[in-house]
Amino acid sequence: MNRPTILTGDRTTGPLHIGHYAGSLSNRLRYQDSHEQFLLLADSQALTDNAHDPQKVRRNVIEVALDYLAVGIDPGRTAICLQSQIPALAELSMLYLNFVTVARLERNPTIKDEIRARGFGRDIPAGFLCYPAAQAADITAFKATVVPVGEDQAPLIEQTNEIVRRINAVAGCLVLPEARAIIPKAGRLPGIHGKAKMSKSSRNAIALSASSEQIRSAVRAMFTDPNHLRVEDPGRIEGNVVFAYLDAFDPDQDEIAELKAQYQRGGLGDGTIKARLEVILQDLIAPIRERRAQLSEDRGYVLEVIKEGTERARERTEATKREVVNALDLFQL
Ligand code: ATP
Ligand code: MG
Repeated sequence: MNRPTILTGDRTTGPLHIGHYAGSLSNRLRYQDSHEQFLLLADSQALTDNAHDPQKVRRNVIEVALDYLAVGIDPGRTAICLQSQIPALAELSMLYLNFVTVARLERNPTIKDEIRARGFGRDIPAGFLCYPAAQAADITAFKATVVPVGEDQAPLIEQTNEIVRRINAVAGCLVLPEARAIIPKAGRLPGIHGKAKMSKSSRNAIALSASSEQIRSAVRAMFTDPNHLRVEDPGRIEGNVVFAYLDAFDPDQDEIAELKAQYQRGGLGDGTIKARLEVILQDLIAPIRERRAQLSEDRGYVLEVIKEGTERARERTEATKREVVNALDLFQL
């Protein structure tokens, strides 16, 4: 049976957080059997805004792989592979840069947000501005048609498909397939301070490896409604981080709807909703943390998993690269 291919990945900039769980990991777990799946440890992409600190990018390769294994990614079914060690990805990236304009890259809403968040101004590293083309190379090199990602990634998938259409048009055949993003209902999870999305680079995250004490203090510090001073006051749900997390993680959504109504009427304290959320997060993270601790004792095993996955990825992407080069009829020796 020919299963559709999934390609997703994470930048190796830090341990994964509950935003990743809600945004993409839960879908990746769901599709392990029905799809052929590749997970990319995106160290090359991580360098696009971390070139000053390559050690951080290196260190987090193992951290992110540990997170994958700890949440239940099964290396027997899903290939975990290292981006910088797959030459065809870099070669296709160079090629794809010719099928996108600087103006289009600068218009990408995700890139615009990220440039603003990082305060780059015009001093944006060229690699960062161009990473959507590299991401298009990642997705298409695996011939992935399904990409489970967080909401912030939707414009990047659109841009990938634009590049695919241009290449197919020049080649005069459907050498590359278009891809479809699968975005979870919960959308993008905000950071604990409520200002931006939760992100590894912003110190606003709850890691999947967080200790019980770290979870407790993050929930305590969480942004709610600054005008909801007394329990009997009416409170706001919009922008309230605790409710955003309850939406994403509480299995009893009917009860959450009732709690929201009560909060808006007045009579429900922040302490009560925070206590409910803390229990849910402690229960979610505790088994992941335990399994991660066990796995981190066996670095050799983790390395073997990455090596095997990368080998499979090399074969797959090399074949696609050859097809693209043939379809474009480039000179070959
Ligand atoms: P960085 O700060 O280094 O960019 P990040 O936390 O944004 O890290 P990425 O590696 O860029 O994480 O993203 C990997 C995947 O996780 C993407 O599919 C992205 O959409 C998803 N994701 C990241 N943050 C969130 C979030 N807060 N809510 C939902 N999904 C998210
Ligand atoms: Mg990111």
